[in-house]
Amino acid sequence: MNSLDVTQIPRGEKQTGWLDVAPRPEGSLWRLPYLFVAGESDGPTLVVTAGVHGDEYEGIEAIPRIHRSTQPADLSGTLVMVPVCNVPAFEAITRNSPIDGLNLARVFPGDASGSITQRIADVIATNLLPHADYYIDLHSGGLMYDIPTLAGYIHDDSEIGRRSRAGAEAFGAPVLWGHPLPLAPGRTISSAAEQGVPCLYTEATGGGYAREEDVISFEQGVNNIMKWMDMLEGSAPSSQPAHHLVGNGNIDQAILAPSAGMFRPEVQLLEEVSEGQLLGTIQDLFGEMVDEIRATASGVVIMLRRFHRVRVGDGLAHITQRLAG
Ligand SMILES: [Zn+2]
Repeated sequence: MNSLDVTQIPRGEKQTGWLDVAPRPEGSLWRLPYLFVAGESDGPTLVVTAGVHGDEYEGIEAIPRIHRSTQPADLSGTLVMVPVCNVPAFEAITRNSPIDGLNLARVFPGDASGSITQRIADVIATNLLPHADYYIDLHSGGLMYDIPTLAGYIHDDSEIGRRSRAGAEAFGAPVLWGHPLPLAPGRTISSAAEQGVPCLYTEATGGGYAREEDVISFEQGVNNIMKWMDMLEGSAPSSQPAHHLVGNGNIDQAILAPSAGMFRPEVQLLEEVSEGQLLGTIQDLFGEMVDEIRATASGVVIMLRRFHRVRVGDGLAHITQRLAG
């Protein structure tokens, strides 16, 4: 089995390779691609993942670019990146695994003897996260959701909360979204936090493609973090986010569709709404209104469903709060 011992990577190396996860029925292997740059001098370790959901391409595109532009001579410490974590979902262009139906972002820290998604989580949680001084998980809205480009972090007064937030501020995303503890169990960043690793995750436009602006934002964000961690020369430009939000970041706990049909949103992303305000409607195929979807709280619209067709229980919208003060 190919494995990667992050602590044994020789200084001054820049490589790509594969991390074996589990055998496939036809005899080949499920494996994770990795790219690393080991600086010529010692320093901290930054771990970056993408493709935890198989239909989110911005991070998948940004990681090889970051690898190409980062040179061992300029780097102190080690940068380890996995551009696609949920390889089966990536192949199938789905959010969750087509094999066991699981959401990789809800099964961490995984199980070495579980089904494929649990095994992928275990490989990341045991091979990569324990060695990270900071961890970044690059997500986006994927096919299903509209989400603004943002950096999400652990909003807490503890040391891990302070480091997570400082990293998110250094990343330089236009929107910051803090999540008080406890985080939803099973997330990559929940697993990192449990292991004492400060972390952030990102969201971006999604839509089944990688918007160049978002790829550049992720590339610059990771570079900013490396400067902030003193892995690269220079300092991250200080930028004020246009929106600083706080709330539960569990998109699975969105306002759910009470009926089936076609969802038409009536609000925009990042719009300020008040409790009871109309967020959208569900219509049937004869054009009759089946349901009005109303805001369950006052706040800021952080997520809207992108797919028109909805089934009962599908997430339609998520409202969060502006950071006070
Ligand atoms: Zn995602």
